[in-house]
Amino acid sequence: MFTIHGKTGDWEVVVGLETHIEVLSKSKLFSGASADYNPSVAPNTQVSMVDVAMPGMLPVLNEYCVDQAIKFGLGINAEISRKSCFARKQYFYPDLPQGYQITQPADQPPVVGRGWVEIMGDDGNPKKILIERAHLEQDAAKNKHDMHPAKSFVDFNRCGVMLLEIVTFLDTKNPENNSYISSPEEAERYLRQIRETARALGVSKANMEEGSMRADVNVSVKRVGSNTFGTRTETKNMVSFKFIKNHIENEARRQVEILESGGIVSQDTLRYHQDDGSSSVMRSKEDALDYRYFPDPDLLPLVITDEQIERIRKTMPELPAATRARYIEKFGLAEYDAARLTETVDISHWFDAAVGGKAERAKGIANWMISELFAHPENYDITNEKTGVVDGMRIITPTDLSELVDMVAASEINGKQAKDIFIKMLDGEIGTPRAIADKFGMQQITDTSAIEKIIDEVISANPSQVEQYKSGKVGLLGFFVGNVMKASGGKANPGVVNEILKKKLG
Ligand code: ADP
Ligand code: MG
Repeated sequence: MFTIHGKTGDWEVVVGLETHIEVLSKSKLFSGASADYNPSVAPNTQVSMVDVAMPGMLPVLNEYCVDQAIKFGLGINAEISRKSCFARKQYFYPDLPQGYQITQPADQPPVVGRGWVEIMGDDGNPKKILIERAHLEQDAAKNKHDMHPAKSFVDFNRCGVMLLEIVTFLDTKNPENNSYISSPEEAERYLRQIRETARALGVSKANMEEGSMRADVNVSVKRVGSNTFGTRTETKNMVSFKFIKNHIENEARRQVEILESGGIVSQDTLRYHQDDGSSSVMRSKEDALDYRYFPDPDLLPLVITDEQIERIRKTMPELPAATRARYIEKFGLAEYDAARLTETVDISHWFDAAVGGKAERAKGIANWMISELFAHPENYDITNEKTGVVDGMRIITPTDLSELVDMVAASEINGKQAKDIFIKMLDGEIGTPRAIADKFGMQQITDTSAIEKIIDEVISANPSQVEQYKSGKVGLLGFFVGNVMKASGGKANPGVVNEILKKKLG
């Protein structure tokens, strides 16, 4: 558990996240213009009359966008509202030509209602994080202030692309359920869960570096064990896990200091400063914007049918939480390993490709990936598209690892030899593990008569150790095994060596 040890006692942090993901679709939420706004597209080439609010133009809801929202809603175990509506949120800024954003109002059901995701809590156990809602809205255009010393420009390509805003729920009536984010690490795990769910579903690239995922971060503190929540601050548009974690910690400490010195936290909107991790007040509660929401008269209420939901439910792929459960139940992996291997959809696809449906391989593959492969990111391609040699690096593929694991399981090679083959692959040796084993004569010796011969030599060369072993110092077995392995050039089958040694030493 993340606690802040204050002068007057221990405090806990409470975090609420409003996460925006840019939704993948061919065209925009209310217009037929292409929704591909990436930087390689020339500015202002994907813009319709609707996007720039020409008089008389009417928005038309893109059904595919609604499907995407439903799909995501099902992915976070949420209720889907059969009826919801759109409202205008008024504000004036050059990147919003309509003068308002079309969104779903907070006081009415959005397409995606109450749901939850499961993350690993700080105590290592699964923890449910409740989600209050996810609603559809329009993204704004992009202001460009760095192209001319005296002029600003606006690129409208992004204007009107669909965003899904996912808001965590703080169940103030049942605080003991502990179903909210309560540390910087849990915030990161929650965001990763949202990201991977969106990616697995093809709903969004959810990439913070590219701007297709951003979060407003609400932070408050309360005494450990208390059921009364404190006043929160909100920091808008954060785009890095690192900054978010840093901000949550700094902001919680700042609030504890204020409260312990008798002050009160004021409900401000903050701006985070990346260079030193501090934040300053952007606007206080008194200056809160009045968005003057009102129903959009150009859009009918959105009605979703059971058939539509069932059609989408049938297309749902396996989601990260289910993948993790499968690894634990079907493959017998430890909770930690299962979590590492489902950190991203690419990782679990790579792992599944290596396992190839053979459960007996799973633990071995998991070990190789987590303790060896992940330490050499340049030596494999997690998207599993590249093979051979790329930029002078030999790419280790899922097939390479499954062959290595199979060879050990079949006693063709021992663990030490497998490691040597792995190192040779890292060093650029091409060819399959079996070909490498052949080339370097790495076959394991399992022939008992050959092993027996070596054992006899080791036993006769170490009479005093044999004496000690026989008088009860059985810990010396390792000494004998080590010497036999060495004498065999690391090729002997350790299992066979152990067995024969025990017999001979009696
Ligand atoms: P607003 O509409 O002003 O943004 P919401 O009620 O929608 O406010 O809440 C925004 C986010 O802040 C939600 O994720 C909510 O769970 C979270 N939140 C609300 N109260 C607190 C609090 N005391 N501490 C931390 N987060 C909070
Ligand atoms: Mg808010």
